[in-house]
Amino acid sequence: MKKAIALVVVLMGLATSGIAQVLVNPAVPAAKELKPGDVLTQSYVVQGATPRQETLLRTQMQAMQSDVIPSRIIFVPHWKYLYAAKMYKLHVPTGMASKMFTHLASRSVFIDDDYYGGDESLGYWMAHELGHLAANSADENDAEKAAKPYRKRLQGAQLVSMH
Ligand SMILES: [Zn+2]
Repeated sequence: MKKAIALVVVLMGLATSGIAQVLVNPAVPAAKELKPGDVLTQSYVVQGATPRQETLLRTQMQAMQSDVIPSRIIFVPHWKYLYAAKMYKLHVPTGMASKMFTHLASRSVFIDDDYYGGDESLGYWMAHELGHLAANSADENDAEKAAKPYRKRLQGAQLVSMH
């Protein structure tokens, strides 16, 4: 709730400065109106994705409307994924079980580009990673619990079917 208020204050501030600018010099066009959705979709970085993957991911992220968003989402090949996990001292189960992981301290989500699965899996597992961030917990049960409303919204937007 506090965050929503802060966002409104920021947006009001932007709107006010736009108006002030117009008053000082009518020739200067007013600042582009920002919607909360704009701010949220622009405030994280997607790396290593194809344009198609990035578009899909951002669409899914927007549909999920999570409370906490990552600062960056990085698609990496499998070998690099394992390396990153090792670097962050995370235990990644061997085989296909792990498709993504979140480094909470840097709010970075790593996606195994070779194994994450299809389009629906991307949203489904991203909901889990957003759950880690929302719960601020590395615990899998906490993440799954927090992921539920995000998966519901994905389903509502017809971006994922329930597994
Ligand atoms: Zn997890």
